[in-house]
Amino acid sequence: MPELPEVEVTRLGIAQPLQGALVRAVRLGKPLRWPLGADPGSMAGARVGSVTRRGKYLWLPLQGGAQRQGGLLLHLGMSGSLAWLGGAAPPAGPHDHFDLATDRGTLRLNDPRRFGAVLWSPAPDEAPAATLLSRLGAEPFDGSFTAAHFHAALQRRRAPIKAVLLAGDVVVGAGNIYACEALFAAGIHPATRADRISRPRAERLLAALRSTLGRALALGGSTLRDFTDVHGASGAYQAEAQVYGRDGQDCRRCGGTVQRRVQGQRSTYFCAGCQRR
Ligand SMILES: [Zn+2]
Repeated sequence: MPELPEVEVTRLGIAQPLQGALVRAVRLGKPLRWPLGADPGSMAGARVGSVTRRGKYLWLPLQGGAQRQGGLLLHLGMSGSLAWLGGAAPPAGPHDHFDLATDRGTLRLNDPRRFGAVLWSPAPDEAPAATLLSRLGAEPFDGSFTAAHFHAALQRRRAPIKAVLLAGDVVVGAGNIYACEALFAAGIHPATRADRISRPRAERLLAALRSTLGRALALGGSTLRDFTDVHGASGAYQAEAQVYGRDGQDCRRCGGTVQRRVQGQRSTYFCAGCQRR
């Protein structure tokens, strides 16, 4: 499923063409995870502001139109991807469930499994957007989120560190592939209890998480199944993975064997030689 780097790659692809674009129409396909929460017709005539991201949510501010002020909160769910169609948009396919048609082109959400969402909200800090966003942990690249904050938050959790990363309520962004890779880079065994991680190891893990996500972003994200950026290009990070998806293969660092274990119903990949409890 699209994780933070893939959502940020998507944001970078749509922010510039959408900034200042005039909404002509909103078209809905089959129901997504939640109803839109507003009359799609009420968005015609609005201008799109600066697209931002929080966790895996995108916020598209809209100003003007019958709603006057508000925006759309967008989530790609399990299988969603956004395309930017600069010219005349081709007819929507069976998995295209949302179009934002503007005077510059069309933003189209393709989502075969329909766990994605497009939600109207008067502001990102008001319901319904605020309800969803308030559950999120710190942004990994937020400079005010320090190793001391990270360590203090881990001290309050007794679950395995991998599960705490995936939960996203301490820090967002560590989806399965990036959690596995960051734990490998930091030399921490995924089953280590979060509250047993020392301050220096928490510092290494936060640094590893930032470098892993930064590298993924630079490579256009990961394409494990069907993620593409808004112009249809695949990500390339998965080819660089050290442990993710490499069970049974040699560890690139120590020559041991990469193992796979099911942890919290998700596959965890690690090297027992390189990663200590
Ligand atoms: Zn190893």
